[in-house]
Amino acid sequence: MNALDARDLQFAYPDGTTALDGIELTIEAGERVAILGPNGAGKSTLLSLLAGLREPASGDVTYFETDDPADALRDRIAHCPQAPADYLFNATVREDLEYGPAQLDVDRADAEARIADLTAEFDLDGLVDKPPFRLSGGEQRRAALAAALAVEPDLLLLDEPVADVDAGHRETIFDALDRRNEAGTTVVVSTPSADLVPRVADRVVLLDRAGSIARDGPVRDVLTDG
Ligand code: ADP
Ligand code: ADP
Repeated sequence: MNALDARDLQFAYPDGTTALDGIELTIEAGERVAILGPNGAGKSTLLSLLAGLREPASGDVTYFETDDPADALRDRIAHCPQAPADYLFNATVREDLEYGPAQLDVDRADAEARIADLTAEFDLDGLVDKPPFRLSGGEQRRAALAAALAVEPDLLLLDEPVADVDAGHRETIFDALDRRNEAGTTVVVSTPSADLVPRVADRVVLLDRAGSIARDGPVRDVLTDG
């Protein structure tokens, strides 16, 4: 089954900047895909379109081979934006972790168990009662990822998920993503760093500065022959 199919996506910002130009992308359920490209290539724009947060000027995206739009699939698709603070808008980190499951009417005891597990997994024990804006950038990143995972989505769209994160906690995040992927979750990660790609993905989609796909294939092929 395909997790998503993007057909001929075009997107320009109101000031006329073309951010995406003719994106064709099919991702199968269970894949681990990196979206790689320099700053300004359109990675964040692409992830926000795939998450249904922006409408393409033309083209379309389908999910799980259904006709449902992204906003009808909040239980299946999670997007973590580049700025993790955009995902943390409650009074405390704990409330942010509770927010997604509550929106989806997850049983209270089940939600509390998920949150306890995520708090331990993402090393948030000393942080859950703090307001998110008191956290460091790397701490906010971990909290936002944990909040996204609290809904147990089938498709994860993560914009630079280890930006600002220290080396030890990068491994925490990579291991967490591996566990979800081994359980069947499709994981799509953007990064400007080719070095990170082999750790997070089997397949890499390379965006060029014009917002088009320059290369798309297995990591070892795309990253070895330039
Ligand atoms: P990346 O995530 O690869 O760094 P972005 O998707 O953020 O790239 O940006 C793609 C292009 O769109 C860049 O040229 C950027 O300057 C431009 N851009 C991003 N956001 C806006 C905006 N709100 N208004 C105008 N241009 C934007
Ligand atoms: P919309 O207005 O687009 O429906 P919401 O802000 O209500 O968006 O969030 C919809 C879904 O996005 C939630 O059910 C949850 O899955 C996820 N989500 C958004 N922000 C958060 C957050 N801070 N913590 C946890 N989940 C979030």
